[in-house]
Amino acid sequence: MQEKGLLIVLSGPSGVGKGTVRKAIFSQPDTAFEYSISMTTRAPREGEVHGVDYFFKSREEFEELIQHGKLLEHAEYVGNYYGTPIDYVKETLDSGKDVFLEIEVKGARQVRSKFPEGLFIFLAPPSLSELKNRIVTRGTETDDLIHNRMLTAREEIEMMSLYDYVVVNDQVELACEKIKAIVTAEHCRRERVQHRYLKLLEVE
Ligand code: 5GP
Repeated sequence: MQEKGLLIVLSGPSGVGKGTVRKAIFSQPDTAFEYSISMTTRAPREGEVHGVDYFFKSREEFEELIQHGKLLEHAEYVGNYYGTPIDYVKETLDSGKDVFLEIEVKGARQVRSKFPEGLFIFLAPPSLSELKNRIVTRGTETDDLIHNRMLTAREEIEMMSLYDYVVVNDQVELACEKIKAIVTAEHCRRERVQHRYLKLLEVE
């Protein structure tokens, strides 16, 4: 029987740079895991492509996906829905490939309850003030929105305890390296590999 792939979940507070780290990981030719493209109701940003960055959906379409159980998790974030297609994730894991999700923390919590054997990595900001700088220097948000995001971020940081690993995003390259090292180590975990050796004994 085909051994299942690993479900890797990268999450963390808003503004920490999850998207940047994910894009950096998938721009490296030696990355061996598959990115699960999310569904969202938010409008495409300039340069974003349907089926590459996201599957862009109307609210009606998205709600239908929820009703038909087509999403592994979903969350509303700053007025828009975001969610992970369940069929893609299951089929890819069943084919033996690792699947990588980059999602916000409410979604990660749902995945944790459905896939407790997944690998949950929390991307943390070097400090809260650094996080604020990053949000402000993006230059696209109002003061109110920044304030609300800071409150959310504080709560999210407290959610760190739900995760297996914490990677501080002080340098993108370094964060990518650490995430890949964690995945490699996870594949070597005794609980994940011992059954293969036990099977060898059965043959004798
Ligand atoms: P953005 O609109 O900036 O692309 O993403 C906003 C937030 O939604 C980010 O924190 C991103 O990680 C998160 N996100 C992207 N896809 C998903 C998803 O499928 N599910 C959940 N729960 N969050 C997502």
